[in-house]
Amino acid sequence: MPEFSFELDDDQKAVRDWIHGFAVDVMRPAAAEWDEREETPWPIIQEAAKIGLYSLDFYAQQYFDPTGLGIPMTMEELFWGDAGIALSIVGTSLAAVAVLANGTEEQVGTWIPPMYGDANDVKVAAFCSSEPDAGSDVAAMRTRAVYDEAKDEWVINGTKTWVTNGGIAGVHVVIASVDPELGARGHASFVVPPGTRGLSQGQKFKKHGIRASHTAEVVLEDVRVPGHCLLGGKEKLDERLARARERARSGTERGKNAAMATFEASRPAVGAQAVGVARAAYEVALEYAKNRVQFGRPIIDNQGIAFQLADMRTQIDAARLLVWRASWMATAGRPFTAAEGSMSKLFAGETAKAVTAQAVQILGGNGFTREYPVERMHRDAAIFTIFEGTSEIQRLVIARTLSGMQIR
Ligand SMILES: Cc1cc2nc3c(=O)[nH]c(=O)nc-3n(C[C@H](O)[C@H](O)[C@H](O)COP(=O)(O)OP(=O)(O)OC[C@H]3O[C@@H](n4cnc5c(N)ncnc54)[C@H](O)[C@@H]3O)c2cc1C
Repeated sequence: MPEFSFELDDDQKAVRDWIHGFAVDVMRPAAAEWDEREETPWPIIQEAAKIGLYSLDFYAQQYFDPTGLGIPMTMEELFWGDAGIALSIVGTSLAAVAVLANGTEEQVGTWIPPMYGDANDVKVAAFCSSEPDAGSDVAAMRTRAVYDEAKDEWVINGTKTWVTNGGIAGVHVVIASVDPELGARGHASFVVPPGTRGLSQGQKFKKHGIRASHTAEVVLEDVRVPGHCLLGGKEKLDERLARARERARSGTERGKNAAMATFEASRPAVGAQAVGVARAAYEVALEYAKNRVQFGRPIIDNQGIAFQLADMRTQIDAARLLVWRASWMATAGRPFTAAEGSMSKLFAGETAKAVTAQAVQILGGNGFTREYPVERMHRDAAIFTIFEGTSEIQRLVIARTLSGMQIR
């Protein structure tokens, strides 16, 4: 394990600058258009695929970067470019991480490559956990998977909602209950291969922000998947369920469920996305404040504006440090004893929301129009206190971890 450094090494800097170039040349000029179109920007994903920025190889390289900084650095630069387009580019990685966190080596090799497709035929993937009555309360999930032993198939029924890439994905990873009596401990993850009958897209949502990213319901009606699509395999599931039943009987219920393993791993990455949007809005506001003249001097000449910018930058740097700490801890195999992953996502998400609001204020009337990008950035930033666990849920996780008590 290399020692931790606050400075990226030369290779990391080169990758960062390469992503930044793509963000400046390709994402920024297209951001307003795809925000208005409210569609997945396929041509931009294809361009990213052509240069290797949307590929399994690239994400695997960043994911396994021994310093832990590959993924946060990538996320920050892409989301600095544009949050909606960036989510369309990285949305697949949540499904990929679900397979990595819960699957066998063979399943990782089988299912992650087709999630990305190739430069000539790009694909996206989707991770389906949330349901209309099970958002923060994951244990309330109703989607059921029942094993048909005679055919060695799982039969899945239910409705998922708010799914990034839902219905337009090739591979869908679906969390379902295999034993409702065990609540969240009775959940398992399944791969639903491309073209499987019974899986369809329901409503596509019109959103407040990140509008270049597709969010929709996924309806599962008697979806049959082969036994080998159960992530981790049947033997491991049976052992896990037996342990959970024993704990439930003895009143020592513990352990993690399938969706939580994915969210824990992805929270610092989402924090890095929020840092990218916050930094983008701060930079626009700083430039504007230096150039906009009122009362005969640039508005930054007023402490009321300059101090806001000082606070914005301080919060952004603090958020990045929390994200980098959590990412480093995860890579170094250090347990999150104070819920450091949740801390990073909580602070970075709230920072993005506050900083983008301040940027709108500093730009005055211009900040309120779509002529300037901070209006879009402010709408985009609102997602970071909602998805992958709301800010309230992050606070619950942190408080429970610190206190050891089941705070409600
Ligand atoms: C654009 C977008 C993309 C998404 N992508 C995906 C995806 O790809 N896959 C997926 O599975 N899901 C996805 N989600 C779902 C997202 O994770 C959920 O929206 C989120 O977990 C919150 O659930 P909910 O919307 O049902 O809100 P609710 O759980 O109904 O919460 C409503 C409010 O109550 C608060 N609250 C709830 N419980 C408590 C409590 N115990 N204490 C204090 N406050 C509480 C919440 O913090 C929130 O403020 C996405 C959502 C959006 C908007």
